[in-house]
Amino acid sequence: MGLFGNLFSKQTCAICGTEVGALSRSKLKDGNYICNKCRKNTSGYFQPKQYDLESTKLHLAYMEKMNELYEKEYASLNKSQKKSFGLIGANTILFADELGMFEIINSTTKKSDKKELWRYDQIETFGQYEELNSGSEENLRRYAEVGLQITMHYKDGLERIYPYPVVLRLPLEKNVDSPSYDIRIFNHLSEIFGSEGTTATKVATSVASTILGAPVGAMLPMAAGFSDTNREKFSKLADDAEKRALGKTIKELL
Ligand SMILES: [Zn+2]
Repeated sequence: MGLFGNLFSKQTCAICGTEVGALSRSKLKDGNYICNKCRKNTSGYFQPKQYDLESTKLHLAYMEKMNELYEKEYASLNKSQKKSFGLIGANTILFADELGMFEIINSTTKKSDKKELWRYDQIETFGQYEELNSGSEENLRRYAEVGLQITMHYKDGLERIYPYPVVLRLPLEKNVDSPSYDIRIFNHLSEIFGSEGTTATKVATSVASTILGAPVGAMLPMAAGFSDTNREKFSKLADDAEKRALGKTIKELL
């Protein structure tokens, strides 16, 4: 079969069995296909080429549990229990410290029909990112975009759900000469990490030095890493929330 024959031929979705054309499906790592309708049940951060059929099914089961957890434990929290920070373009990050989890609302998460929470204890790094504007036109500001980047690295048995580091990029400003950053978000993440020495002043200093000297696209972690005490504390809070909502932790259920 030639190129066009292949392109227009129908393939069966390995999840639901529906026959779909090229525009309504994505190819998995092992050559299987998932239809767009089933893909709405995966995370917006799901990358089909990184999953085979078995791990896709696992990811779908995870999202099902996540959605249930969200409805039972998170949806009813009041405003003071969800610390919310607005980002540009009506995007938001919300921290639920008592669950040890956060939510992101942006164009990527809106691709999914399922709600997803991110566990604090699976955060690997966070910091600011900067994209310089290219070109030399006078009306161009120095930075095309600056923002917060959180890298999630699922481990301890959860790497089957996300077999790659998930990079969450949250734009804070576009087209600026000197980014101001919302220091409160970085401070809150530093508090979660419990790292010593990440006071507001130090964060502000590190932001300034980044602007002056960092290579394009560099990601400077604000904190050295999770303190063991805080990681344990937030792991327990997240596990307890999962047990209340689902009877067992998600890891135990998958
Ligand atoms: Zn399907």
